Amino acid sequence: MRNLYIHVPLALKKHDLAGRVGVISMDEKVNPYKNAQKQFDKAAALMDIDKNLLVRLRKTNFELEVNFPVRMDNGDVRMFTGYRVQHRFRSPTKGGIRYAPFVDLDEIKALAFLMTWKCTVAGLPFSGAKGGVACDPSKLSKGELERLTRRYTEEMRHVFHPKLDVPAPDMGTNGEVMGWIMDTYSFLEGQRQEVAEVVTGKPIELGGIEGRIEATGRGVARITELAWTHYYGDTLSGKTVAVQGFGNVGSISAKQLHEMGCKVVAVSDVNGTIYNVNGLDIPAVLAHGAKERTVAGYGNADALGVKDVLEVPVDILVPAALENLLIKENAPRIKARMVVEGANAPTTLDAENHLLSKGTIIVPDILANAGGVTVSYFEWAQDIQAQAWEEKHVYDELNTYMTRAFERVKNAAEKHKTDLRTGAYVLAIDKVASYVNKRGLFP
Ligand code: GLU
Repeated sequence: MRNLYIHVPLALKKHDLAGRVGVISMDEKVNPYKNAQKQFDKAAALMDIDKNLLVRLRKTNFELEVNFPVRMDNGDVRMFTGYRVQHRFRSPTKGGIRYAPFVDLDEIKALAFLMTWKCTVAGLPFSGAKGGVACDPSKLSKGELERLTRRYTEEMRHVFHPKLDVPAPDMGTNGEVMGWIMDTYSFLEGQRQEVAEVVTGKPIELGGIEGRIEATGRGVARITELAWTHYYGDTLSGKTVAVQGFGNVGSISAKQLHEMGCKVVAVSDVNGTIYNVNGLDIPAVLAHGAKERTVAGYGNADALGVKDVLEVPVDILVPAALENLLIKENAPRIKARMVVEGANAPTTLDAENHLLSKGTIIVPDILANAGGVTVSYFEWAQDIQAQAWEEKHVYDELNTYMTRAFERVKNAAEKHKTDLRTGAYVLAIDKVASYVNKRGLFP
């Protein structure tokens, strides 16, 4: 057993990031990196592709671990461990930075690996990266968090670069943290002009883009609509939904799906699940959350356990927190007809095999949650071109990218008579392999 943490952004305490991470306990034996490599292998087995190319794509190729000191508010110095991993085929590599107590190298490797396939599925000119610092942001003051972020950025000074490796928010980090990264990087580069395009997910004032905060959740909702319509020949109107995790991704997905006519019957955070068989009033739940910093205690619903959200009878389940949530043990109890992965790597291979065998449609992370990095790409391009995109333009383009990605993944899955995740990998491996092949191998 080890502790896993789920995203609870509403549980704000000392500052904007405090309480974003809460703890649930779960049997977790699956190595997320190995799990992702097995998904890759499953797709590769369907492809007629040179094994000398596959061998190059199957591993992350840059892994940095740093230990660095931060002065705490009480004057003590504490050591923190930070990571950055790249799965590099083309530049820049792209991916978020996670602040959470459980962060380790294998998790960051898995997430960097996924970013390559996600960016490629979305049609973005990036390969994958991920970073993180093992820390509990809910236990750090704002000053401690800022010093930690600035020191981590200094440690990554020769790694981050607008044309080489561009970080972004992930669990436990936000726009404010991205602003500190941009400022620190610009300072260290000795630039009198800031280097806005070194990081995405920044506050609007610092060159951030309209709509980045909502981007992942909006993308999840759009993909849900496309997948549901395609596979069940019906609209989303009245379809029942459960959303696990009420962080940025979960709360915006719930809000969007509610607005699209779904009946969101259950949502959860680290304090529990709230359930109303007639549908939750999501704007009221959001207002409750903003005030109470948790969905728990919301009046017009039954209170269930943290993990019950996964097992309530619904049409659509959106896991929107952590890895390894749908596992062998709970898969037989999952009743949803469709699982849409708002989180990265929430489903283990065993759970996936079980769900597929009973006909559940699984819309994979590398398609479903690609809206965040897609709008990060718009932000990066906007900053390089010194432009400011209108919100409507951002959302229209996001829709175009998500719709195109869905069509391509669905077609690949149908062509190879396989599931959507394997279809997404086939599509992405094919594209990356032909890129790598055309460049050749140095020396
Ligand atoms: N952390 C997000 C993800 O997992 C966004 C990454 C980015 O915008 O670069 O996709």
